[in-house]
Amino acid sequence: MYRDGLKKKFMIMTVAVVTVTLILFSTAAAFLAYLLNSSRDYERKQMQLETAEYRDRILNQVDTTMQILTTLAKAYEVSDIASSNEKLVEIMSSTNQANDFISMLYIRSDGTGIINAPDYGTIDDITYSDCHPEAVNAMREAFTGKNTISGMFTSLIYNEKVFVYSVPVYKNGEIIGVLSAADNIDFFTEMANENTVLSGSGYIHLIDSSGKFLVRSENTIVDERLDSIFDGHYLSEQTKRDTQIALNQGESIFGEFSSGRHNYIFYVDSLGINDWNLFCANTYMGSSALGETFIGVVVALLFFVISIAVFMLFFGYRIYKIKSNELLHVAYFDALTGADNTFKFDEDFQYAIKETSEYSVAALNIHNFKGINDLFGRERGDKVLSFVKSVIEDNLKEGEFFCRDAGDLFYIFLKDTDEEVLRRRMGEIVSYIRNTSLSYGEYSYDIGFYCGIAVRKDKEHALIALQSIRTVQHEYIAFYNKELHDEIRHKNRIESYMNIGLENREFKLFLQPEFDLSTNELVRAEALVRWQKPDGTFRYPNEFIPLFESNGFCIKLDMYMVERACEQIRKWMDAGIKPIPISVNQSRLLLSNLNYPKDLENLTKKYGVPPSLITVEILEGTQTDDIMLLRKQIDSLRSRGFRVSMDDFGSGYSSLNMLGMLRIDELKLDRGFLNKFTGDEAKRQKIILRQILAAAKDLGITTVAEGIETVENMEMMKSLYCDQGQGYFYEKPMDSEKFSEKYMK
Ligand code: C2E
Ligand code: MG
Ligand code: MG
Repeated sequence: MYRDGLKKKFMIMTVAVVTVTLILFSTAAAFLAYLLNSSRDYERKQMQLETAEYRDRILNQVDTTMQILTTLAKAYEVSDIASSNEKLVEIMSSTNQANDFISMLYIRSDGTGIINAPDYGTIDDITYSDCHPEAVNAMREAFTGKNTISGMFTSLIYNEKVFVYSVPVYKNGEIIGVLSAADNIDFFTEMANENTVLSGSGYIHLIDSSGKFLVRSENTIVDERLDSIFDGHYLSEQTKRDTQIALNQGESIFGEFSSGRHNYIFYVDSLGINDWNLFCANTYMGSSALGETFIGVVVALLFFVISIAVFMLFFGYRIYKIKSNELLHVAYFDALTGADNTFKFDEDFQYAIKETSEYSVAALNIHNFKGINDLFGRERGDKVLSFVKSVIEDNLKEGEFFCRDAGDLFYIFLKDTDEEVLRRRMGEIVSYIRNTSLSYGEYSYDIGFYCGIAVRKDKEHALIALQSIRTVQHEYIAFYNKELHDEIRHKNRIESYMNIGLENREFKLFLQPEFDLSTNELVRAEALVRWQKPDGTFRYPNEFIPLFESNGFCIKLDMYMVERACEQIRKWMDAGIKPIPISVNQSRLLLSNLNYPKDLENLTKKYGVPPSLITVEILEGTQTDDIMLLRKQIDSLRSRGFRVSMDDFGSGYSSLNMLGMLRIDELKLDRGFLNKFTGDEAKRQKIILRQILAAAKDLGITTVAEGIETVENMEMMKSLYCDQGQGYFYEKPMDSEKFSEKYMK
């Protein structure tokens, strides 16, 4: 159903909006993650590159120093410098000055040696015990033939951090001593303090394999004085463990640590000298080309765009929802009264009848609502409708509902089935509205109602019950029943087919002869319509003429029949046969049209038929007819040469008075007169009939007796001086061809 359809659409819409929002956010998140990731990768690569660069610089420096020392050692060997203390002192102090070593030392294989420090001069009788153990270790190592570098230690002489390079000195292929040079760590410190590490946003330290700082840059992130990178709570336990493992194995590793509210990354790489490592640290994205600000701007921009998109999405969704609700309102409610409309009623009805089988539907219609509109104006009419709506609303029980159909028609779903109860309930509604409207002041108006009720049936059945009321006098409530429905269905069927029937010439001209009672001569024929269905069967006038009278179709049909009569007369004339006049039955509806006499004349002209050959039979009509108009029309017809007959005289409101007022040519006595010539009434009827016939004669009006069925009928009418007769005694109506064959030769 529509409501369910809309709900479903809402659901789809909601899911779509949420999905799109989620997709937008997850895309943004993924993009951000990608951005961060690639930025971090870039960052790491950068760190690796720079660390490698620093390592190269250190190794170059160390290599150069080692080269100098090796060259000196070679010179010692070649020149046998080592054999003389004086030579050693001399050469050492000059090379020391040239190379900026803080001291130089030569130690012999017997453990004695000589040391020269530029600021302190030369001591020529030192032993291992005068040296720092780190230096001793390096020297001992050099005695095994390796160029070595000692660990860092604080020089007792200079009170600063130093380390020692040691190379072996050979003589005749044998190591006779070790030449050492002590150097301070200025080179490392300067390098660590350079402001160029990672574009200035990073720094570099030298640490040993236990994480202890050997050289700590001044540009630290962590202000605290720390001995080791593992001190404090900067590194997580896991990171500490991983880093220690990497340090032990001389491998490089990336890690993270935090200080304050910031995160940093670090990179540890082995230097390849002793257990020395470079420790490079940097803030996230610190040196990346994108930069922190750039990322920030991108993130802000991204979220701004997404927020706008999401806002617009939700805004659109809201508008859609509002519009849908409006649509729902338009689709379900009557704009004028605010009541439900039939669409909603039908849906509710479908739901309701699943719940209960004890229900009825009432169709309530205001009698002559058009009149209210005409009298008091549309606005007032609208107010009446709104009032009716509110009264119905106030009289509903739980689970009952109603709607306004087009105009002044309301349908009500009631949870009652008892006819008396329904009658009472509808009566209450109707009388409340009527009483209120009557006491409404200057515009008091008696609102009448029709009400059709269908028990356990839908609103279409209630409407059928309602339609049936129009024929029921003094009753405003009708209940649906099958017979009524069949009748209406029959009517509808006829109505839906009548125009086609006319176009297909299914309406046939039948003729019944009229005879002169005294001479038995054929004087005229009456045209009677028969509806021949395509299957060959006939429908008689009483089955459709009353309906055509009420729906106005008679106007068309009667003119059509006049045309068929003219056509027939024309045929006779063309065949050289003297035509007889034909009487045509004409509905009263035609006579209210002022053009009618002229139209009729035009028809006769079209076929070249003298109007005198056409007798217009008019039903006697009701008291309320406009006699003056009728008189005018009759006069007009006669002035054009038509004969005018009053049909079925005596069956309705006929009075002799009328004979005086209307100048007619013929009076057709209703068949009913003949039926009344039995029993007690017979004598009285005869007296009246005689008077009528005498009066007609005096007025020069021809009299025709209808329904002559027996020779007695004929004899009696003849004895009363009735002029002509028509009836089964003579002939039944027959189709025009048969008639022509039998009578027109
Ligand atoms: P009506 O004009 O009074 O026509 C006479 C009716 O009496 C005809 O019925 C005819 O068949 C019937 N009738 C004739 N002789 C006898 C008889 O001896 N006994 C009996 N019991 N009936 C006899 P029909 O043809 O069924 O027509 C019924 C009525 O329908 C007509 O009554 C007329 O009022 C109307 N009608 C017929 N054709 C037309 C038409 O073309 N236009 C209009 N508006 N009404 C028509
Ligand atoms: Mg007639
Ligand atoms: Mg008649």
